[in-house]
Amino acid sequence: MKIHDISREIKEGMVVWKNRDSKRPKFTVTAEYSKDHANESRIDMDMHTGTHADAYFHMLKDGEKIGGIPLDRFIGKCRVLDMTRAKGMITEKDLNGCKIKKGEIILLKTRNRPEREFDSEFAFVGREAAAYLAKKKIKTLGVDSLGVERNQAGHDTHKILFSNGIAVIEGLELSGVKPGDYFLVALPLRINADASPVRAVLVEGIGK
Ligand SMILES: [Zn+2]
Repeated sequence: MKIHDISREIKEGMVVWKNRDSKRPKFTVTAEYSKDHANESRIDMDMHTGTHADAYFHMLKDGEKIGGIPLDRFIGKCRVLDMTRAKGMITEKDLNGCKIKKGEIILLKTRNRPEREFDSEFAFVGREAAAYLAKKKIKTLGVDSLGVERNQAGHDTHKILFSNGIAVIEGLELSGVKPGDYFLVALPLRINADASPVRAVLVEGIGK
């Protein structure tokens, strides 16, 4: 069984949304082995930093919080689609022909490389593409940017996906995996919040 780790490492110098310091994780050591005979620490981190799942509550006033979203959105067979040619906005045309089926977990591999630097021109999912995915009734959309959309007034992409019950996983690290069929595990914490960090992995060989 081959397991691909598609999560970003959580560390102080990691790339964060718009390079905002407030988004950077802060680690505090609260016990040290040499003094306290144990190592313990705390972390203070934005829920949308690194690889994370968004709750519908993130963009919908009465939306479900992350701990209440059905777990089948975050674990199951999935497909990584090659969107590396999409320059800025991923459109319906890019997705057309990918034979997207009802109930699929779809991950979009783009030219984004947010492990290196925050690129304000990152590839994102346009509102027509989101409406297309909603029409196809997919279960989950995963992207390799820190946001599924970028600077869109009204946050249409998020809202279309969330109001159709589509879960969103952002900040995936897909540069090391080939497009194709896999089994995804990216479970959020059981927490009453607008998002949660996930440890995302793709398992090869049991995707079909
Ligand atoms: Zn988010």
